[in-house]
Amino acid sequence: MDENTPDAGEGSGNDETGNGDHPTRNGAPSTSDRAVAAADEDAVPDDDSSSDSSPDPATDPATNPATDPATNPATDDVTVDLESGGRDRSSTDVDLNGVVLDDDDDTQGLFDDLLSGEPIFENKEVLRPSYTPHELPHRNDQINQMATILVSALRGETPSNILIYGKTGTGKTASAKFVSQELESTSQKYDVPCEVEYINCEVTDTQYRVLAQLANKFIEKNQSLIDARLDRCRELRSAAEEDPSSIERTEFVDRDGLDERIDDLEADAAEMEEVPMTGWPTDRVYSTFFDAVDYHERVVVIMLDEIDKLVEKSGDDTLYNLSRMNSELGNSRISIMGISNDLKFTDFLDPRVKSSLGEEEIVFPPYDANQLRDILQHRADIAFKLDALTDDVIPLCAAFAAQEHGDARRALDLLRTAGELAERSQAEIVGEEHVRQAQDKIELDRVVEVVRTLPTQSKIVLFAVILLEKNGVHNINTGEVFNIYKRLCEEIDADVLTQRRVTDLISELDMLGIVNAVVVSKGRYGRTKEMGLSVPVEETEAVLLSDSRLGDIENAQPFVQARFDN
Ligand code: ADP
Ligand code: MG
Repeated sequence: MDENTPDAGEGSGNDETGNGDHPTRNGAPSTSDRAVAAADEDAVPDDDSSSDSSPDPATDPATNPATDPATNPATDDVTVDLESGGRDRSSTDVDLNGVVLDDDDDTQGLFDDLLSGEPIFENKEVLRPSYTPHELPHRNDQINQMATILVSALRGETPSNILIYGKTGTGKTASAKFVSQELESTSQKYDVPCEVEYINCEVTDTQYRVLAQLANKFIEKNQSLIDARLDRCRELRSAAEEDPSSIERTEFVDRDGLDERIDDLEADAAEMEEVPMTGWPTDRVYSTFFDAVDYHERVVVIMLDEIDKLVEKSGDDTLYNLSRMNSELGNSRISIMGISNDLKFTDFLDPRVKSSLGEEEIVFPPYDANQLRDILQHRADIAFKLDALTDDVIPLCAAFAAQEHGDARRALDLLRTAGELAERSQAEIVGEEHVRQAQDKIELDRVVEVVRTLPTQSKIVLFAVILLEKNGVHNINTGEVFNIYKRLCEEIDADVLTQRRVTDLISELDMLGIVNAVVVSKGRYGRTKEMGLSVPVEETEAVLLSDSRLGDIENAQPFVQARFDN
């Protein structure tokens, strides 16, 4: 859109945002990813990731009273108690009522009202992202495709590598975990050595950490295998001490052979050293991982969930190294299953990595409103008391989430939040109005989270926009933002970026939906960008000022405002 305007620049080199890191080509394992990781702490979160990664308590608005405008003004502690009281009463109704009534004289009735209503939830946990459903409606095709490819592992062959694409909330993680559980339990059933390792690359986001985590998992497995083998050998030895001929009934030729085996196993066990979470050169971590996987014959499926986050942050070295391991492994084989929210992430990959990783591709399309209804209905049946929802609740949640690129996570969040809001307002049942309130609340929480995690420079730019808007400036242009931005930087001793960079940051705020910028032509004076805030002013300002670096700006405000008075 605006990339071609003189004002917007080329959109490159904005290191401050952490997006300037392009994957480096580096055949050998390197340690550079750690430096990148450290420098990258401020990276702009991608919209998807923030919703995807905001699992429970800390960021979940529904359980975090601090960010929840709907909770009552009591202290955090009390608010938390209110919540658990509300949840518990469904299961321990009688006991709790008993306690409250017994102590009636000593209480001021803080909990009484809350306890008096009929509970709405039967089992709220079922609506949380951490819950793994046993059934995944509308994902049969994708699950069957995965199984068809991975079944080779059960035949002792190496399955093709798989790349799974789809937007957040399309059931990728849930389906992959389901398939991996099935694969592992089938491999146990038929006693074939096949193992699945799942890594969430949003958490484990550097080559060092991925390799270290894999190495340690395999070391652990190897160690229990060695322990089991040692136990058996030692039993054989004591049996042989009592009855020397017993050794003939084993695979060992004689006692010496058995002793040798025991020595070998003990040496193996002693040799296996766990990888520390930092500190080793990456090539040592890699070779430790390599030896650990290759310790015995097996097929290993490595699931790298959120693989795009790994590549974005640390480049494709990890994938390069993993994808060429099979040519060097002697006993084992590995197969990689990458899961990505970003359809275009392979653009950043080395062509060799790209072709190896993408041997098979499976797409998870967004759910439509009808599919979301089915998914919600399945969960609602377990999560809510009978007749706790009016008929329009599920269709409305499904419709809202269908607009939100068919995100099942969003649909479930909406349903849970609607239930919580109904519960808090002591409604008997969840109705359409609770869903609408939940939609507003989730949207606001998203904004708060996105703003909170912006890099400092973007926060200053955003603050400049807010100041202008609060002073009644409409159709704010880039020049105006830049002038205020400069003042603010001086006030808090931050580096002042060029206007071109600031324009890039504005484009990013636009993409995140925080400001709404349009390019307008100024005739022969060229073009500029005009913008307005797309998020609530007060809440956004409060989030910005809660950043310790920006807190000082509050004092700068009268100073900046003086500009408008003249
Ligand atoms: P992704 O990994 O694609 O972002 P998830 O697999 O984490 O999405 O799914 C998001 C949420 O929606 C999870 O709580 C998951 O259990 C639920 N979900 C997704 N698809 C389905 C489905 N087909 N049936 C039931 N629940 C689903
Ligand atoms: Mg996922």
